[in-house]
Amino acid sequence: MTNKLDKIKSNIVKSAELISKSKKVVLMTGAGISVDSGIPTFQGTEGLWARFGKPKMNAFSEFIKNKDSWWDREINHQRSPYVMELRRAIEKAKPNDAHYAICDIQKLGKINHIITQNIDGLHIESGSKNVIEIHGNRNYLRCVDCENRYRFSSPIFEKPLPCSNCGGVIKYDSVMFGEPIPKLMLKNSKNAIKECDLLIIVGSSSTVRPAAGLSWIAKSDGAKLIEVNINDTKLSSECEIILRGSSTDILPKLYKEISSL
Ligand SMILES: [Zn+2]
Repeated sequence: MTNKLDKIKSNIVKSAELISKSKKVVLMTGAGISVDSGIPTFQGTEGLWARFGKPKMNAFSEFIKNKDSWWDREINHQRSPYVMELRRAIEKAKPNDAHYAICDIQKLGKINHIITQNIDGLHIESGSKNVIEIHGNRNYLRCVDCENRYRFSSPIFEKPLPCSNCGGVIKYDSVMFGEPIPKLMLKNSKNAIKECDLLIIVGSSSTVRPAAGLSWIAKSDGAKLIEVNINDTKLSSECEIILRGSSTDILPKLYKEISSL
């Protein structure tokens, strides 16, 4: 046990040094970071898919085929138990120690961009800046055509009006299964990845595109990788440093170490 703790401690010191000497740092987060905020993950033995079955992957084409009846079902709360459980959890969720530690590290000038796969909006709520939410944000609606976003308050009682900018169809900003990543988000995340010389991947299984692809792009462009995860991932063997543990435990320690340098 002592050896294991020593190893984590020395990896935190190494990570802090690497972060400090890097020029552009991107931090990418997945569902793992929000588990301690009470949000269930999709994958894994306790995940939503294990309990409710894997949902259909064509949600977006179903929406496009019949938007009106989709919104009618939405307004009448006729959603699957799996969607309802996720929503209730997200509505109650508050940022945890990992979100705040990331914000603190960013305030030291050590993180340029945060790319997140999470729709919970907790990075922004914790005070972080330059957050690219590639799967959208639960607090917004978005035009399918021009990608204009509109803040809204949940729950919705009436079908949203067409986009005031272009007249296009409005949906939740959260990216559905089968829906392309909004172009602007994809462009911003690729630009951030292209510039970075260090990518820190927190609580992501590194299997879901495009996040998984972005990690490989960073790697092949010569960036170093640090992984913070409770388990091994497909990317672990490619990482310069692995910080094995929960993000709420590791990230506050990492912040402390960086701020003491
Ligand atoms: Zn529009």
